Amino acid sequence: MKYISTRGNTKQIGFIDSVMMGLANDGGLLVPEKIPQISEEKLQSLSKLTYQELAFEIISYYVDGEIPEKDLKELIQKSYATFRHQEVTPVKKVKDYMYVLELFHGPTFAFKDVALQFLGNLYSYIAKKTGETINILGATSGDTGASAIEGVRGKEGIRICILHPHGKVSKVQELQMTTVNDETVLNLAIKGTFDDGQRIIKEIFADLEFKNKYHLRAINSINFARILAQTVYYFYAYFQVAGETGAKTVNFSVPTGNFGDIFAGFLAKKMGLPVGKLIVATNENNILERFIKEGIYEPGEFHSTYSPSMDIQVASNFERYLYYLLGEDSKAVSDLMNQFKSEGKIIVNEEQLRQVNEDFAAYGVAGEKCLQTIKKYYDENDYLLDPHTSCGVAAFEHCNEADEVCVTLSTAHPAKFNESIALCGIEQTYPEQIKELFDKPQYLEVVEANNDEISQKLKEHFSSVSQSI
Ligand SMILES: *Cc1c(COP(=O)(O)O)cnc(C)c1O
Repeated sequence: MKYISTRGNTKQIGFIDSVMMGLANDGGLLVPEKIPQISEEKLQSLSKLTYQELAFEIISYYVDGEIPEKDLKELIQKSYATFRHQEVTPVKKVKDYMYVLELFHGPTFAFKDVALQFLGNLYSYIAKKTGETINILGATSGDTGASAIEGVRGKEGIRICILHPHGKVSKVQELQMTTVNDETVLNLAIKGTFDDGQRIIKEIFADLEFKNKYHLRAINSINFARILAQTVYYFYAYFQVAGETGAKTVNFSVPTGNFGDIFAGFLAKKMGLPVGKLIVATNENNILERFIKEGIYEPGEFHSTYSPSMDIQVASNFERYLYYLLGEDSKAVSDLMNQFKSEGKIIVNEEQLRQVNEDFAAYGVAGEKCLQTIKKYYDENDYLLDPHTSCGVAAFEHCNEADEVCVTLSTAHPAKFNESIALCGIEQTYPEQIKELFDKPQYLEVVEANNDEISQKLKEHFSSVSQSI
């Protein structure tokens, strides 16, 4: 399996090199040269596997022998042994036709753990095998940071720096990231939004001299390995729900920010999984909803919402979808991305918009609706949704037909977002692991959203302690 850039200007590379490259060197995103096709027969044989066995099968298509089977199995076992639920990502029936895929049973109580536990172990494995230095740089809207730190802390030869928007993450998210007292971890709280952080790291990664000198590696969902790990649970959920209901196709409603998680669903569908509708659920930061409805991709005004992990205007992974929408024509992708840079928007033609509407449905959930939905399911179904999952459920209600079976991805545990839960008049008890964070000291530096200042901090952090492995 070879990986190529959506913009067509990198040479073909293998799986491990693609993990290490993160953002493609030409500024595009890496995608597999060909998407593996899974036959109906093969699907049948995958349907009874445990989560870990299934992960091994799906991931193997993409690793394509670059990691010996035994090692890959071990990596997967280790990554999901940290989850509190035996099934890793269990599916819960909330009512007829409506299921929730609980992705929050990992160490930091958000779905990001599913991919980042795997990626952390993968980096550590590569570091040991090749002696490569791994300095991780990432921007977070809240959950990726904690999850990435948890995925790599204490692992030999890995250092990490995470940028988060100062004061714009939930209390628990902030505590999870900043209470880690470890000299290999640097938390920079930037005076700005997530989009500022994401833009700055993209620019730093695009400076190839700096990237190579400081051995920078990506943990954002620009890294294809994250998307890959996330396709697994679409398969897993489909098998559970199709098995239980007899449904031929299953819809998925996905709370979306950076278009990563929903892209993983798109990939699963392209591999042959009988996915029906893919419903893009957003909050008031609804660039993706507007794109799907109108064919115009243009950042709007930034809103701070009850679902802060989705407070994103520019969705990194959107370019991966654009690549398939444009018939895998990397020249056309480059042109559109250049246009986006110069004019601030992308407009697709009518035929393309028709295709977009075949691929996705979309619904942007307003704040009040998000809280009402939390209350409604708490009262009527005795199920407490976190505000992101609530957006997913509200979009399910809006976009799903009565006779279609739908799985909403539950991307976080409600305890991470008590600010929003409390507004619903609901009192929740925190899990022990979250309760104990409140007594710990925090380690972070507040900085301007400025490339030079941040580059300077990175230089200091990534050269301060020797990297011997
Ligand atoms: C990151 C995140 C999302 C958005 O996921 P994307 O892959 O960026 O679309 C949704 N909900 C929660 C809780 C998250 O942490």
